[in-house]
Amino acid sequence: MQAQRLIKKDVVIIGAGAAGLICAIETGKRHRSVLVLDHMEKIGEKIRVSGGGHCNFTNLNLQPGNYFSTNPHFCKSALAGFTPEDFISMLDRHGIEYFEKEKGQIFCKKTSREIVRMLYKECANAGVEMRMNCRASVISKNENFSIATNWGVVEASSLVIATGGLSYPELGATDIGYRTAGQFGLKVTKLKPALVPLIFRQRDREIFKELSGVSFDASVSCKGAHFRGKVLFTHRGLSGPAILQISLYWEQGDKISINLLPDIDAYALFISKRTSRIALSNLLSEHLPRRFIHTWCCLHASSRPLRTYTEKEIKDIAGLLHSWTIIPEGTEGYRKAEITLGGVDTAELSSKTMEAKKVPGLYFVGEVIDVSGQLGGYNLQWAWSSGYAAGQYA
Ligand SMILES: Cc1cc2nc3c(=O)[nH]c(=O)nc-3n(C[C@H](O)[C@H](O)[C@H](O)COP(=O)(O)OP(=O)(O)OC[C@H]3O[C@@H](n4cnc5c(N)ncnc54)[C@H](O)[C@@H]3O)c2cc1C
Repeated sequence: MQAQRLIKKDVVIIGAGAAGLICAIETGKRHRSVLVLDHMEKIGEKIRVSGGGHCNFTNLNLQPGNYFSTNPHFCKSALAGFTPEDFISMLDRHGIEYFEKEKGQIFCKKTSREIVRMLYKECANAGVEMRMNCRASVISKNENFSIATNWGVVEASSLVIATGGLSYPELGATDIGYRTAGQFGLKVTKLKPALVPLIFRQRDREIFKELSGVSFDASVSCKGAHFRGKVLFTHRGLSGPAILQISLYWEQGDKISINLLPDIDAYALFISKRTSRIALSNLLSEHLPRRFIHTWCCLHASSRPLRTYTEKEIKDIAGLLHSWTIIPEGTEGYRKAEITLGGVDTAELSSKTMEAKKVPGLYFVGEVIDVSGQLGGYNLQWAWSSGYAAGQYA
């Protein structure tokens, strides 16, 4: 029988994603011997696909209020310790071009691969060792942490769990981070897929399936939260930025309400055209896609010349346009979710160091923690900031 390979390091980081790589750079700079291991073939797979290949890597308007967590204060210290400007200055040092798309969202001008290459170079400069195709399985602790992998056993005095959430399993997601927390007696909050498209109920799916690809600008609400942005019909339901954002709030059985004319008072518009011969669907098609309006009118208001509607009918139609209600059947799940909402309970961790209070030497960084950002670069910034914080101490 072949002897098991045994490697000893100061720090082992499981997960070569955004949080793990930044943490590796920082620990390496402190002259700790660091090994990053990941079961994928390449580092930073989620960085590569994010932002449609252009990586919305941060947001200039970042506020702690852009994050969801059982403890909304937990994220503050790490976000202040490594800011969007700090990450941008790293890109500047590497000559990587970027641009602001909208609402403070910063994207790579060329490709997200430039960020992956930058992190790889920074790791190499900091003397970080990387081992890919290396899957962590069993973790134990005596004096040091011991991590069993398909490559051998690795021992270290500090262990950083940077294994992300459950979404997009084909990019490497596993539940090892949450299992490890449980194994060491740390609580994990309820998990659910978020920033995820919603699926129609069967009846609505039949009605709207022809509209796949149609989109419009709207304001979407659920349980008091409102988001303005694009709504896109898919072949099974609704997607687009406004829907992805509202999925952070949506729970099974909840309604969502869509204001189809967020910039217009529909009632005033109808009154102003009261004497005209224009048909309802033609008037509405000046503001919303014609194919959608055709279906919407078939469902809610048969289209006739405006002057033939009674005052009450006009009021009712205007009300429906400002509050079109849908009860989704579910979400597209982790397969299509950008993030996992929930994670390792922040009450278990130091907000300064990301170290588990009950388990000295054990750190959690990035999406695996119960800190989830809205759409717009906030999740990657959390990965950079929490990874940086742990990198000062691990
Ligand atoms: C399609 C998509 C688009 C997105 N776009 C954006 C965007 O534009 N802006 C934004 O801010 N956020 C975006 N996100 C979210 C963002 O990518 C994540 O929140 C962020 O990458 C999380 O970083 P992380 O380092 O915590 O985890 P990850 O990047 O998920 O890294 C975890 C790593 O751990 C490895 N791993 C897991 N289990 C094991 C194991 N047992 N052994 C070894 N290795 C293991 C995985 O292979 C993976 O490489 C997007 C997500 C998706 C899926």
